[in-house]
Amino acid sequence: MKTVRTFAEARALGLGCVGLVPTMGYLHEGHISLVDAARRECDTVTVSLFVNPLQFGPNEDLASYPRDLERDAAMVAAAGADVLFAPQLAEMYPGESLTTVTVALVTEGMEGGLRPGHFDGVATVVAKLFAGVAPDRAYFGRKDGQQLVTVRRMTADLSFPTVIVGEPIVRESDGLALSSRNTYLDSAERTAARSISRGVAAVAEAVVAGERSGRQLEQIAAAPVNEEPGIDLDYGTLADQDTASSLTDLDRPAFLAVAARVGRTRLLDNVHIDRNGGGWVPDLGVRLDAPSILYGEA
Ligand code: AMP
Repeated sequence: MKTVRTFAEARALGLGCVGLVPTMGYLHEGHISLVDAARRECDTVTVSLFVNPLQFGPNEDLASYPRDLERDAAMVAAAGADVLFAPQLAEMYPGESLTTVTVALVTEGMEGGLRPGHFDGVATVVAKLFAGVAPDRAYFGRKDGQQLVTVRRMTADLSFPTVIVGEPIVRESDGLALSSRNTYLDSAERTAARSISRGVAAVAEAVVAGERSGRQLEQIAAAPVNEEPGIDLDYGTLADQDTASSLTDLDRPAFLAVAARVGRTRLLDNVHIDRNGGGWVPDLGVRLDAPSILYGEA
């Protein structure tokens, strides 16, 4: 595997069908599952690693976001990727940029409502990666449900030829969705954080039992978080998989997205719900059976 710093080098190494896995680093099994999917489907697998300042708000964790290039390079190599593209700030943003990619409507609610400018930052950096790396396919986690909707829409609207692939959520053994930000949690916060995935799992059960009301499903998601001390719910919303707009009823492919704050850490989770024949099938993703590589040995 080669680590490169420039778009030109990354592009030159992209032979055949190129699969791109965009990340902000401090990798875990969720990221590795995206690399695995790209490895199965592409000739060249390129992982990008860039902590994108544009998508952080002024009071967010840009400075403290975990970074360890050596650790990440070893993991990406072990996962069988061909290229690690780790640009410096000056490669990604040379000089003052006058261009921002804004995806309207799908970014209005949920994360977009609470983090002004966040999805402009995401859409702009992903568009730059698509233009600079020229991937045939790009892999994103379903964990960031509204981000996936935004990236799909940006790709279609700007006529990028890249195929967007969404992959299932990878969870810790107790159900907590993996996130680089889980490393911020102390043990009391870690306990409180579990309530998020309990809520999401309860939604999956309720859907299987026949619940279709958006308000009911949202209450089911919120209840364990609201009952738990030390965690504050930002939202629990049933949203359309295509538009991210809030749904009154489960009548089209949807995801029930939850965001909550534990201490200084914001955590996201969701369950995707797809139609299958006459019924609705919730997908909670997969659980690890051992502690995550986030906390120690790869
Ligand atoms: P990040 O490094 O947090 O920007 O995430 C990079 C990519 O990994 C995004 O497409 C995320 O949705 C995806 N990702 C993050 N956490 C998970 C997870 N637990 N399961 C699956 N994909 C994930």
